[in-house]
Amino acid sequence: MAKAILILTCEHASNKLPAAFKSAVPADVLETHRAYDIGAVQVFRKLVKFAKPEFYCEGKFSRLFVDLNRTITNKSAFSEYYEALEARDKAAAEKAKAQATAYWNEYRATIEKFVETALKSKTRVAKSEPEIIHLGIHSFTPELNGKVRNTDIGILYDPNRPQERAYANVIKAEIKRLYPAMKVRFNYPYKGTSDGLTTTLRKKFGPGYVGIEIEINQKLLSYER
Ligand SMILES: [Zn+2]
Repeated sequence: MAKAILILTCEHASNKLPAAFKSAVPADVLETHRAYDIGAVQVFRKLVKFAKPEFYCEGKFSRLFVDLNRTITNKSAFSEYYEALEARDKAAAEKAKAQATAYWNEYRATIEKFVETALKSKTRVAKSEPEIIHLGIHSFTPELNGKVRNTDIGILYDPNRPQERAYANVIKAEIKRLYPAMKVRFNYPYKGTSDGLTTTLRKKFGPGYVGIEIEINQKLLSYER
C-alpha cells in the first residue's frame, strides 16, 4: 500500500457544556456514557502522540449539546434535553440550538476542508489506492439496557468498500497479534454504514477516502481517567 495520509478524530471526547446549555442537563448525567465516550479521549491523545497524524481534532462539547457524529438534519443530533429547556425557556433553547449548529458546522467544515485539500494535492498511484485513512476513536458502554456486550473492540467500516475491509482486517490482525485474548468484532456494536461522520465523508469524497471507527469497550478504559 502506498503511504496514505492519516487523520484521527474523537467526536465524543468531552462531557462539557457551553454556558448557554449548562442548565439543561443534570450534573450527574454529564458523568455518564450518555454525555461522552468515557476514556476515548485518553486513547485518542495517546494515538496522536504516537502516530503523529497530519490532521486531528476532538469535540470540545458533550454530544448532549450536539452530536458531531450525526448529520445535523438527523433528529438525534440534538438530545432530549432541548425539549425540557424549550418548555421552560423557548428563546434560550433556540439560542443554544443555533450555537450548537454553528459549532457542528465549524467542526465538520474543518475536517472536510483538510480532506479536500489533501486529496487535491496528491496524485493517486492507482485508482483503488486510498489517500486518506481516517480513524474515529470511540468507546461504548459495557452494558446497555441490561445486556452485556461481549466484545472488547469493535471495528466499524463499510463492507461494500474493499479498501476499508482490507484496513479493518489489518487493524484486527494487529490487535490480535498484540493482545491475543482480545475479542474483536467487525461492525459491532454499531454498523459502519449508519449515519455519522465517516458515512458523510465517504459520500462526499469517494474511494480516495477510507473511514474506520474504532469502538473500545469502556470496561477496558475505566482506569485511564
Ligand atoms: Zn462515540
